Amino acid sequence: MIYVTDLTEYLFCPYKLYLKKIKGVPLPQTSEMLTGSIIHKVYEEVLQREKITIEQRICEEMGIDKIFKILYADSKIVIKNVMIKNKVKLKELGVDYLDLIKELQEELKEDELLKAIRIKKYISIYGKDKNLYQNLFMVKDMEYPISSIELGLSGKIDKLEEDSEGNLYPVELKTGLFSNGIRKHEKLQVTAYALLLEKERGVKILLGFLEYYQVKQRIPFLIKEDDKKEVLEILSKVKELFEGQKEPIKEKKSFCKRCGYSDFCWST
Ligand code: SF4
Repeated sequence: MIYVTDLTEYLFCPYKLYLKKIKGVPLPQTSEMLTGSIIHKVYEEVLQREKITIEQRICEEMGIDKIFKILYADSKIVIKNVMIKNKVKLKELGVDYLDLIKELQEELKEDELLKAIRIKKYISIYGKDKNLYQNLFMVKDMEYPISSIELGLSGKIDKLEEDSEGNLYPVELKTGLFSNGIRKHEKLQVTAYALLLEKERGVKILLGFLEYYQVKQRIPFLIKEDDKKEVLEILSKVKELFEGQKEPIKEKKSFCKRCGYSDFCWST
C-alpha cells in the first residue's frame, strides 16, 4: 500500500523517496524537524482530548475564566506528556526544553481563551446542548485512518470535519506561517485525502483546508477534478518507482539545504 505522504515526498523529490523507501537510508532528524513534529503532536492531542473535556467537564453556569482554566490545564498536561516523551531527543539536538514548553504554553493559552469565549457565547444563546462541540468546532475525527484497496493508497487525515448538513472536509494541520500561497504538495496531499473520502463514503468532497494552528489561520481551497487527476498520475509514478526500484536522477534544488539527506546527497 502506498501512503499519501509518499506522493508528497515524490513531488518534493523522487530521489528522497527512493532513498527512504527503497534504499532504507535513515533520514537524519534536525532540531527543526523534531520541534515541528512536537508542536504538531501537542496540537493534535489537545484537539483529540478537548471533545471529552468540553462535553463532560464544562457546565452551563461556568464563566469564561473557569472554562478557560479547565481547557488550559488540560493543554498543559498534554504539553508536559509530549515533552517528557521527547526529552532525550531534544537534549541530543540541543533544543532548549524549557523554552519550548514556555512557547507552547503561551500559544495554547491564547487558543484556549478564545475557545472559552466561544463556548460561553454559545452556551448563553443555546444552553449546553449535545451539539455544542460539533456546532462550534465541527471536528468529527482526529488522525482519521483511511485507505482504498482499489487505488492501493492509504493515509491519515489530521482532522476530519463535518458541518451541520453532513458535508465532510479534510483538514491538514500545519506549523508555522502561511506564506507565498498554497504549495503544490500541500494541495495534493489534501486532495488525495478528499479522493479517499469520496471512495470510502461515496460522497463529493467540495473543500479542503490547510490549518496553520499557531497563527489561527485556515486556508480553504476547492477540490478540483484536475487536481484529483494529478494525484492519480503521481500515484502511478510512485507505483512505478516502487515496482521498478530504478534510481531516479538526483537533482540539486534550492530546498536541498533544508532536506535531512543534504549531507548524504551532496557531501562530496
Ligand atoms: S538533498 Fe536534495 S536531492 Fe537529496 S534527497 Fe534531499 S531534496 Fe532530494
